[in-house]
Amino acid sequence: MLLVHKYGGTSVGSLERIENVASRVAKAKDAGNDLVIVVSAMSGETNKLIEYAEYFTKTPSKREMDILLSSGERVTASLLSIALQSKGYDAIAMTGRQAGIITDDLHTYARIESINTQPMQDALKEGKIVIVAGFQGINKNGCVTTLGRGGSDLSAVAIAGALKADACEIYSDVDGIYTTDPRIEPKAKKIDMISYDEMLEMASMGAKVLQNRSVELAKKLDIKLYAKSSFSEGEGTLITKENNIMEQVLVSGVVLDKNQARVTLRNVSDKPGIAAEIFTKLAQENINVDMIIQNVGIDGSTNLGFTVPQSDLENAKRVIEGLEHDIGGMDFDKNICKVSVVGVGMKSHAGVAAKAFSTLAASNINIEMISTSEIKVSMAISAKYGELAVRLLHEAYGLDA
Ligand code: ADP
Ligand code: ASP
Ligand code: MG
Repeated sequence: MLLVHKYGGTSVGSLERIENVASRVAKAKDAGNDLVIVVSAMSGETNKLIEYAEYFTKTPSKREMDILLSSGERVTASLLSIALQSKGYDAIAMTGRQAGIITDDLHTYARIESINTQPMQDALKEGKIVIVAGFQGINKNGCVTTLGRGGSDLSAVAIAGALKADACEIYSDVDGIYTTDPRIEPKAKKIDMISYDEMLEMASMGAKVLQNRSVELAKKLDIKLYAKSSFSEGEGTLITKENNIMEQVLVSGVVLDKNQARVTLRNVSDKPGIAAEIFTKLAQENINVDMIIQNVGIDGSTNLGFTVPQSDLENAKRVIEGLEHDIGGMDFDKNICKVSVVGVGMKSHAGVAAKAFSTLAASNINIEMISTSEIKVSMAISAKYGELAVRLLHEAYGLDA
């Protein structure tokens, strides 16, 4: 079989752990598989590099950031290859560029446009284990780009798609996808199979166990995607098409996102085109706006609130300041979080949202904003209640039963 494995930051977080990954990879090779191994930077490394840059400025150039951040993954790719070679295995490390990964120009959040698989295929044909530095590629001008936080998952899925691999296995410190983050709720249960759509909502709503764009791509290319642990054996969780899953549950999981901030715009001119202008400008800066609420206008003006990732807040402020003529004032709140309930069963059942609201109300937790889709309900609440809300909702939907 041709398999793509991806080992995340914790799995390669020390030399001993890289050694552990090398042993696992060696075992998979001995079992007769062709292997492409995608690695992340050692845990904490990317954050450390960002801090280094922010020592000089809060808004470093994104082009330079990409050169800086891509270095973390190169360290682990080369070390893993060296570890395998020292065990007598024929391994070859490749940067994103050497693995043929071509992206668009959007520095720090680039999209993969194509993969020239020839170098990887040549190496595989020679029996080599291919080790690829995740999270990176190059644009058409040859500049290094990175794929957004958690982007090594996307590298792995894209490579699996381009090579038509039999499966893509994402290894982390948890042995699969749970009904909620087991660090928040120890009673969380492992899920054997979950649909791409539910996984996509969970990832988009903040469950960092898989990066959302990687799930989106796996769905598009119908890739057999597994979440497994690099510290234990086990089947993990299969992420697959909804119709492959026999047992349909009402709610699959509860997700907490602590990295949201709320922006409130006061006295916004209540006339056609203002919302379009605000959100178009934010989109042009690639700022991901999630929940939006607008009040009914009074006396020609209204209030408009929305959430953005905390990392985009500085950029969002800058964009809004450029629109001052139509906005009376703005404030920000980083002390919020977003709790979401996800499940395909919601499509055919009424009352799921009402249950979420009444569960929080019963514990006197105020809901500040709400957004819904066919298969999720999200609520912005005060940050200090985030973990409590997750546990309450997890219990309310019987997920710990
Ligand atoms: P890696 O560094 O290997 O990419 P991540 O830290 O990105 O791994 O993802 C694994 C973490 O995701 C786990 O340690 C766990 O705390 C967290 N997590 C959040 N939600 C879930 C969930 N529903 N199921 C499993 N893990 C989750
Ligand atoms: N090292 C990058 C990050 O921390 C990419 C990844 O780990 O997937 O976001
Ligand atoms: Mg990750």
